[in-house]
Amino acid sequence: MNYLGEQALALNLYSKEAICWLNIKLKGRRTVTNPTGHTCNETNCNHCKKGNKRKGLDQEFRDLFSDEIISDLICSKPSRLFNINQYLRRQYGSISGKNVADFDKFCKELIVESGYERWFINRKKNYWLAKLLNQHTCTYCNREYIFVFKNSSGGKGMVPQFDHWFAKTDYPLLALSFYNLIPSCATCNTIKSATPFNLNDHLHPYVDKKISSSYNFSYLPINLSTNKIILKTVNTFDRKATNTIRALNLSLIYKGHSEKELQDLIDLRYKYTENYLNILLDKTFNGLRVSKEERFRLIFGIEIEEDKYHKRIMSKFKNDIIKELLTIEK
Ligand SMILES: [Zn+2]
Ligand SMILES: [Zn+2]
Repeated sequence: MNYLGEQALALNLYSKEAICWLNIKLKGRRTVTNPTGHTCNETNCNHCKKGNKRKGLDQEFRDLFSDEIISDLICSKPSRLFNINQYLRRQYGSISGKNVADFDKFCKELIVESGYERWFINRKKNYWLAKLLNQHTCTYCNREYIFVFKNSSGGKGMVPQFDHWFAKTDYPLLALSFYNLIPSCATCNTIKSATPFNLNDHLHPYVDKKISSSYNFSYLPINLSTNKIILKTVNTFDRKATNTIRALNLSLIYKGHSEKELQDLIDLRYKYTENYLNILLDKTFNGLRVSKEERFRLIFGIEIEEDKYHKRIMSKFKNDIIKELLTIEK
């Protein structure tokens, strides 16, 4: 799991678009006949130039969304997002003749179907956002590359999936919120899918700065020639890390690497007469000006600094295992 940081530039560019899109769908463009409509200050904003109000939405529902609420909904950090969701549902439910089920239904139509599926995915905003976020491997597993390449002939290209940390089935209101869109691989997105995550029990890649150092990869010898990858939380009673690792099923996802990458590293450590790992790391480049980072990249194809783990697959896994192997007495 990787920490995604503040992503200020991506947030700024994404929010401008998403805020105008949502405003226009709820209020329409500001014109002489629609003075309460929306228009931004950008002269070439596509949404404000020709966008249309979405038909069929209940007026009391539309009225919930002030400019401030719309901006908060797109830009707020996860804890605030959760509160906005609670607040708006309660507000709508308290209007006579209205109920929260209808609120969720309107959110599903507007924000999930019209917004996330048709605007964000079908109009390839997902490629644009993924490129801005500039993450090279899956945020959750660091096991698959998530490159972004558009197909020049217009069809489907390569793009990460976006997992909704607050699942869009339970929180349709939050389906376009910046900090709720986590770039991930298809496997992780499928495994997590609608598992209910909450901030008290799970780690969040935009909230928990120490997310990648909250657990370590290790291994367990099963017999002389078989080892099994295991995951341990750094603090035994770290409930959030335990829950998150379990929900993402990282031990299943890494299972297939026991016989391959793990075995390769163990073989390096034990099958050679000298401490081969140490020789590789300390002596191979003797006399050459090769930094520790470069050595690890050249020998194992990984990054060793936590904030760069995302650039190479399996950086976290290999770093942890190598560290463990180097401390074991032969
Ligand atoms: Zn605009
Ligand atoms: Zn993944």
